[in-house]
Amino acid sequence: GCLCGCSSNGSLHSLKEVSIQALYAQKVDSVLKLMTLDEKIGQLNQYTGNFQATGPVVEDTTKIEQIKLGLVGSMLNIKGVKNTRELQEYAMQSRLRIPLLFGLDVIHGLRTIYPIPLGEAASFDLNLMRRTAAGAAKEAAAQGVHWTFAPMMDVSRDARWGRVMEGAGEDTWYGTQAAVARVQGFQGDNLADVHTVMACAKHFAAYGACIAGKDYNTVDMSEQTLHEVYLPPFKAVVEAGVASFMNSFNDINGIPATGNQYIQRQLLKGDWNFNGLTVSDWGSIGEMVAHGYVPDLKGAAESAILAGSDMDMESRAYVGHLKELVEAGKVSEKYIDDAVRRVLLKKFELGLFDDPYRYCNEQREKETVLSEELRNLSREAGVKSIVLLKNEKQALPLSEAPKRIAVVGALADSKVDMRGFWANEGVVEEMVTVREGLASKYPDTSLLYAEGYDLETNELKLQDALRVASQSDVVIVAVGERYFSSGEAKSRADINIPQSHQQLVKELKQTGKKVIVLLMGGRPMIFNEMTPYADAILLTWWLGTEAGNAIADVLAGDYNPSGKLPMSFPLHVGQVPVYYNYKSTGRPESKNKGYTCCYQDIDFEPAYPFGYGLSYTTFEISEPVLSKETYTMGDVVEVTVKVKNTGSYAGKETVQLYIRDLVASITRPVKELRGYEQVLLQPGEEKSVSFKLSMNDLGFYDSQLNFVVEPGNFLVMCGANSKDTKFAKFTLN
Ligand code: BGC
Repeated sequence: GCLCGCSSNGSLHSLKEVSIQALYAQKVDSVLKLMTLDEKIGQLNQYTGNFQATGPVVEDTTKIEQIKLGLVGSMLNIKGVKNTRELQEYAMQSRLRIPLLFGLDVIHGLRTIYPIPLGEAASFDLNLMRRTAAGAAKEAAAQGVHWTFAPMMDVSRDARWGRVMEGAGEDTWYGTQAAVARVQGFQGDNLADVHTVMACAKHFAAYGACIAGKDYNTVDMSEQTLHEVYLPPFKAVVEAGVASFMNSFNDINGIPATGNQYIQRQLLKGDWNFNGLTVSDWGSIGEMVAHGYVPDLKGAAESAILAGSDMDMESRAYVGHLKELVEAGKVSEKYIDDAVRRVLLKKFELGLFDDPYRYCNEQREKETVLSEELRNLSREAGVKSIVLLKNEKQALPLSEAPKRIAVVGALADSKVDMRGFWANEGVVEEMVTVREGLASKYPDTSLLYAEGYDLETNELKLQDALRVASQSDVVIVAVGERYFSSGEAKSRADINIPQSHQQLVKELKQTGKKVIVLLMGGRPMIFNEMTPYADAILLTWWLGTEAGNAIADVLAGDYNPSGKLPMSFPLHVGQVPVYYNYKSTGRPESKNKGYTCCYQDIDFEPAYPFGYGLSYTTFEISEPVLSKETYTMGDVVEVTVKVKNTGSYAGKETVQLYIRDLVASITRPVKELRGYEQVLLQPGEEKSVSFKLSMNDLGFYDSQLNFVVEPGNFLVMCGANSKDTKFAKFTLN
């Protein structure tokens, strides 16, 4: 018989799961039957509290009254055992004692802050992403949180869009792997595990394709591009069991995502069979009024519920209008019931009906928050996220401890900037700066610090900077963006780093000292002016709690940098959107700028291509070798390359594999990433790396949105980044 106690002897595990789901469905229905329409609508209502750990957790006492009446299903922005317990106690005073769900933006950690997601994506280390998400989940769950509004999986090719910092960059294939890894990390195997949280796939859909990179802007694109470029991460996380989805603010081809029946009801809940819950984005139901899609909040409520938005985050449209819409016959109660079922199901799966205080354990909170284990993980994630962009004459690593180091640049001494955007819950004082990291790495070195520029105004402060530089053996200078420059509503038309920062690097080089630049920021940035004056450039993003220690580890060569860019870094803002997987025009790019698709005034290529990143050692990657020249439909294409460490440090190379379908019924990109392998090599060591491409890897959505694999000729390209590749050709019959 089955292990779970039933008498079946089929496939034990899956039968067990099926029976658990059936049991949950029964339980959900039994609760639903008891609910009044008001109580049902209450489950679809989500309010925010404030961010304070002390004092009243909800500013507005009428919210507390509503919780007691069963008119609130979920709260966001509440954390801490004490605060969540207090609110849950109010919910337990309601007639049906349905527990509250606590949601929060745990984007790159809660109290222990990890690198920003775009930075971490540079690690190309899926297991690392799984582990930091699991670490963040553990800490959040220990603070009473059930649900994170992460990961963001919006593919974006536009560096002007401030929210690129929250995602995995420009590539759909890689973004899909990263999204799945992060969801697995947050959720673990089982939502009932009290160390995990529900993940949220956001923002559905195509938010990263806002025209001109302006946050919240219109998205207008072919269905084919939507399915090929923007939807795959979302589809994949449904298959991976993601618990929730969040709508996006934008309209797609004229219909706001929040009220979009095709996107939500037909695709997500229909074709993809998603059984979790969907939440609106903050006020996005109400925003449909400003979009000019509905006349008022009542119309917004109607549109959203019919489209399949289950929970209303802070528009107060559902709590204010759904009842009258049902009573007027405008909205069938079956839509409300479906949404409520989804909310209740998650509350059962989390075990909240068994014990609404399971996430409220003071002891666990104390042991978990900012634990040594999590800080170590943050430091590991930090070192693996750093990308070496330039290293002239092996300027790095600093193999011997220098006697005197000049640490220049106010960003090198700024805790809040190390924390990065979307990390308000991290305590600023707990962030390690570069200055502090270097001090503990080199206890016997004198560190001479100078601001170099004013942190607030960017005004150049040259004098002290030049003085400390001339007194030191090496200059480490931090430049770039401040933490509030990338993030929500942080779109920028100019993504050059401040001119004064570039000027500073230039002036410092005049001292004749070795100048090491630390480039900080949350998005691809432009800094051409300073590049020639930097002996080395390390892209250090915003790395979180252990930023300074991680940066010092890499500077000292205790970790050989291995990060690769998850987004192209433009040469000029006029190139944006610039991305590696573009399509060939009828006038392909060429050196001769005549009548081609090139610009007359600047190069075609970005400053640094997707997948780019150096190491302290050097690698040689061979031409790819294929198992056959001709394959038949259904075969597996096997590709082998050799990679050799030709330098003098042990190091890790990320060997990348791209394909190109040379002729197809829909024009195909010149390159598409379809695999990569990370190989650790000692000096002189060589290893073979093999890839297996399935037919799925060769397919695409045709003009009818069917996923097809078409016979014909293909290229396979392997290399250390998307630009520097060697190729082989095969035919598919
Ligand atoms: C953002 C979401 C976030 C939500 C809740 C919105 O403004 O777009 O990504 O989860 O706020 O804080």
